[in-house]
Amino acid sequence: MTRDQTAGKSAIPHGVRMLGVEDVRQANELKLLHIIRDRQPISRVDLVKATGLRAGTVSVIVNRLLRASIVHEGESARSSGGRPATYLQINAEKAHAVGISIGVHQTVYGISDFNGRILNQRTVRTESDAGRFLNDLSGDITQMVASHRRKRVAAVGVSVPGLVDRAAGSLVRSPNLGWRDVPIASVLEAKLGLPVQVENDANAAALSELWYGPMEVWSAHCLLFVLIVQGIGTGLILNGEVYVGSRIGMGGFGHIPLDPNGPPCSCGSIGCWEALASDEATLARFANSNGSVRPASLDHLIDLAEAGDARARDELITSATFSGRAIKGLSHGLAPDIVVIGGQITRAWSIVEPVLLNELQGEYLLPGTSRPQLRPASVYNPAFFGAFPVALRSVLPRTRRVSSLL
Ligand SMILES: [Zn+2]
Repeated sequence: MTRDQTAGKSAIPHGVRMLGVEDVRQANELKLLHIIRDRQPISRVDLVKATGLRAGTVSVIVNRLLRASIVHEGESARSSGGRPATYLQINAEKAHAVGISIGVHQTVYGISDFNGRILNQRTVRTESDAGRFLNDLSGDITQMVASHRRKRVAAVGVSVPGLVDRAAGSLVRSPNLGWRDVPIASVLEAKLGLPVQVENDANAAALSELWYGPMEVWSAHCLLFVLIVQGIGTGLILNGEVYVGSRIGMGGFGHIPLDPNGPPCSCGSIGCWEALASDEATLARFANSNGSVRPASLDHLIDLAEAGDARARDELITSATFSGRAIKGLSHGLAPDIVVIGGQITRAWSIVEPVLLNELQGEYLLPGTSRPQLRPASVYNPAFFGAFPVALRSVLPRTRRVSSLL
């Protein structure tokens, strides 16, 4: 049976889906895991306080996580009342995961434990021939896994720019990579012998904010994640769950047209947000407008700006202006509580933040209610960090027994 035939009824959850009862259940489980990881060792009483969930719900989820050995009861101590309290901790060795972030120029891969701590990391050049590249990459990863306690690696998560068919684990189309119909999961599963989940890079980046970010992410009704890399992608977290819409989900806010006289975009249109404010757009503008040598990456351009190059600084400001306009437009429609920006541009936060805030000000239908908080991502490479929760979610236990409590 092929992967496609089994996709619809697979026991393995395929990353993120539309919100439903099952999602609320898993969101609660992830929220609980996040708090345990963040505050461990933590008592059940404190866990109930921190989650805001009912004690019965917390108890059911904790017992399930204990049975699955994802959480264990750690040290016990005698509280002031004299009754011994047990403390919960994540079993970091429950499962290790391989995370792979395929970028237009570079691909980063590594291994993390169940705490999300990255134990090993490597960067290679992304090749244009997808088949050959994935073959070489799987050879490198096999070596890394073999030299790193192979038996504990349980799953692989891949983040990739473009439209992803989650059920099939394939990349349908990526204009920036120049890839089309690449069965990433099938190829890697055959080579690595591990289950592989594939997710769009902006959705993976949004997931990294749930996994590595502050607790406020869990209380936000709507969080808009803007991933600025070689292209621009967006991820939405609604009530603690990454929302993707249909099987081949969204991610297309980067192609909102902003300037009918702007540069051509990889999607075939003109003047998209991505064509005006992505790393590629910023670097191309810097090189074209002055006949300058094109820096190798946005990091290099930021180095120039920080060293006093006014033109480099101007291009960062121009891109931030376009991004601010696009985010303001989206804020009118989505009313996010929080907007998180991810990508190398966050290294220039002192330059871009005032520009973004300035663009986000101005007219709102309901001033004070529509304007979101704005902050940089919690991790420097969110598309890479997000590949680990994409993988580790498939290790979480699935049961319907808690439905009556939620
Ligand atoms: Zn476009």
